[in-house]
Amino acid sequence: MNKVILVVLDGLNARTAHTYMGFLEHLIENQQCAAYTVRAELPAQSRPLYEVIQTGVPAHLNGIVSNGTVRRSTEKSVFQLAKEAGLKTGAASYHWVSELYNKAPFDPMTDRIQLDMDRIIQNGLFYYEDHYPDSHLIADGAFLIRDKQTDYTLLHSMNIDDTGHKFGSQSKEYVQKAVTMDAILSNYLMDWLGKGYQVVVTADHGMNEYFTHNGVTDDERKVPLYVFSTKVTAGDFRETLVPQLQLAPLLCHLLGIEKSDAMQELTFI
Ligand SMILES: [Zn+2]
Repeated sequence: MNKVILVVLDGLNARTAHTYMGFLEHLIENQQCAAYTVRAELPAQSRPLYEVIQTGVPAHLNGIVSNGTVRRSTEKSVFQLAKEAGLKTGAASYHWVSELYNKAPFDPMTDRIQLDMDRIIQNGLFYYEDHYPDSHLIADGAFLIRDKQTDYTLLHSMNIDDTGHKFGSQSKEYVQKAVTMDAILSNYLMDWLGKGYQVVVTADHGMNEYFTHNGVTDDERKVPLYVFSTKVTAGDFRETLVPQLQLAPLLCHLLGIEKSDAMQELTFI
């Protein structure tokens, strides 16, 4: 099966993931996934990196240069390529993803639930409060996967980032959100893997001790990557620093679809 679930844990740096997310560590220890460290593109901000993850095109070329760039993407995204290949797309995600691929600006009165096969994201559940609970977000995504039978599904959480902005990356609060997500994921992951789904877990950018992210420090730029797929050799490759531009061609490879011309050749697996 070529179905892919992409979990993006907003604002989770690699150090915190690799130190405190014990269930994911358990799966690495037991050769259940391939683990890498991703070097995020710059600026280490959310909206530009959502676009990088989905298109494999850097900010200076794709034009999504800050969180204030509110418009639809003009690049070919994995969502669009999947749709064109006849696959069903879905996202349970922060509303900025709707703005990039479905409609901008986002209107909370009408755009929270978007079930429209003509859209690039055909099945969309979009939240617009940064404290929307991660538990609910993952359940939203699980609904799309189960009931809408989506082939490519983005699940994008915000609580880790939101807490990092309130307390910083060195806080107990930030670590606690990562721990909570590790526990939430454990149940769903085993279910999805048992059903044959490929699952990719990563983050857009990290978080620093000054309650923000944008720059080049390891805590801002290094993010985790876990790939659960029979198409990838399992193992702990976290010493390998993977360019974030490799994610889009990786997702295309796992989905069994052609990458766009703008995407890099897939080289790290
Ligand atoms: Zn943030």
